[in-house]
Amino acid sequence: LSDEELNSIFSKGKPAANRVKNEIKELVSKRVNLGNRPPGLGVIIVGENPASQAYVRNKVRSCAEVGFKSLLIELPVHVPESMLLEHIYGLNLDNTIDGILVQQPLPTHINEFNITMAILPEKDVDGFHPVNVGKLSLGRLNDTHVSCTPLGIIELLSHYSIDISGKHAVIVGRSNIVGKPLASLLLQKKPFLNATVTMCHSNTKDISYFTKQADILIAAIGIPYFIKMPMIKRGSVIVDVGINRVDDALSNTGFKLVGDVDFGEVSREAFAITPVPGGVGLMTIAMLLRNTFNAYIKKL
Ligand code: NDP
Repeated sequence: LSDEELNSIFSKGKPAANRVKNEIKELVSKRVNLGNRPPGLGVIIVGENPASQAYVRNKVRSCAEVGFKSLLIELPVHVPESMLLEHIYGLNLDNTIDGILVQQPLPTHINEFNITMAILPEKDVDGFHPVNVGKLSLGRLNDTHVSCTPLGIIELLSHYSIDISGKHAVIVGRSNIVGKPLASLLLQKKPFLNATVTMCHSNTKDISYFTKQADILIAAIGIPYFIKMPMIKRGSVIVDVGINRVDDALSNTGFKLVGDVDFGEVSREAFAITPVPGGVGLMTIAMLLRNTFNAYIKKL
């Protein structure tokens, strides 16, 4: 990279997310003008976790923005698992619903795996069902729903013309919803993907040894400011997935959202870095809309 290129740029999610949303909005309006029903997303939330409520509100608002119908089911925190399953079965049978999302985390008396298994794979727009995870791993990208955050990261890199092919991508975090599906995606034998992938986690010894080799570093850890400037390679691309609440006496809410990357210092050495908030999070919602739209088109 030249010195000029080394000037850090801010890869904000908004323009990329808006582009996806506008595309979907136009496609939905075309379908509806032809006399079809709009796409439908069923969202279930259990309990009153403020962060989950905020995510769900955003998702429902985004559905309205692109012309989807959304059906929000709010259940009390002590709802029995069997009743939650009944709601899922109802949405599975509902012909006006193309995608189903059960907001996580769920209360501890509910088995998340049972919930994931209950959703029809074709309506599993979160991409968590083992059938969809298996298809991703087999490279059947046109025949599956991929987890929204990894998809959003690829879309964001693509929007900013950041090349992935042949690059060394280092992912810190191996969760089933971010780290692992992202590794699967980046590894795909496809022209825009084709990365060399390294995964790190809490048992990795000397994480810096790996992160310093990354052309593209993705932090999905859940620890504020975990990635510091000496841990990165100069001129690399940094994707910050983390969304962490930290105390902030200056804010009305008493907290602010920060990522897993120490943005202030890392942005001085990086070629590109995603902010928190306003980066990957916006892309995640945009990909939820796209997955739901794809499910709708298949159904039509
Ligand atoms: P999980 O808690 O499921 O996974 C965290 C991962 O980080 C685990 O693999 C864990 O390792 C690893 N980890 C934890 N501590 C360390 C450490 N000290 N060193 C190295 N690795 C460590 O989290 P998620 O993947 O669900 O989420 C991660 C972050 O991303 C959170 O802040 C979350 O809020 C955010 N998020 C943001 C989204 C968005 O749209 N922007 C969407 C989803 C999540 P191990 O497996 O060994 O325990």
